[in-house]
Amino acid sequence: MAEGSTEQVVSHVRGLIERRALRPGDRLPAERDLALQIGVSRPTVRAGLRALAAMGVVRSRHGSGTYIPDGPPMLGSEPLSFLAALHGFTRDEMYEARRIMEVGAAGLAAERATPEQLATLAEEVASLFASMQDPQRFLVHDINFHRTLASASGNHIVASIVEMISALYYERRRQTAARASDRDLRDAAEMHRRIYQAVRSKDADAARQAMHEHLQQASQHQAKESPEEHSTNGKRAAERTASTPGARRVAPRPRRGKPSH
Ligand SMILES: [Zn+2]
Repeated sequence: MAEGSTEQVVSHVRGLIERRALRPGDRLPAERDLALQIGVSRPTVRAGLRALAAMGVVRSRHGSGTYIPDGPPMLGSEPLSFLAALHGFTRDEMYEARRIMEVGAAGLAAERATPEQLATLAEEVASLFASMQDPQRFLVHDINFHRTLASASGNHIVASIVEMISALYYERRRQTAARASDRDLRDAAEMHRRIYQAVRSKDADAARQAMHEHLQQASQHQAKESPEEHSTNGKRAAERTASTPGARRVAPRPRRGKPSH
């Protein structure tokens, strides 16, 4: 049998999804069957499935095969991680992207959130207040709040993009989150409560306003967690300006702080 290419596997699975032969929660055909259907070798099928998993399109469960993830659509953070590695996102760019997506999402959530989504948001707010002694746990609930809110916007594209940005944000923030001050965590928890209350009372303007303020404040808090970032960014900006047109930006700075687990 011809070895075939990973792209054939990816486009075959995309075809199955587009034709609705595969829906969220469904299990993909066994590797052997996929190899026969597509006319490629089994190692190629495996490589294709790995590529799809990196994109977040499929998820493999040990011992029971490969599935289309259930629940809200989710794209892996791989594409953005690559971009980050290539171009070295700044904190400002990250928060700018978050404001563009999430302020609008908060307004839509105020109009569209389901009772279940409101309940999840309420739980996340309670968990934020309960984890102020543990910044890493706080961060996880913080991100879950934002993912739930994005999904409550009822717009799958917005929800997917916020998922992707959140994954990247988590990777960054967890390296410095331990340095967050008690006061900053309390302020942040309060802001999430305000957003939640605006969404619950279906006040889209107030929800957008609160999200905007929260992301501004969060950006300032994070700047305090890693003050040296300013000078690094300044240096990079200078190098960017000095570089010839079309030249690549300088490499991202090395990871700092505690080694990731
Ligand atoms: Zn937040």
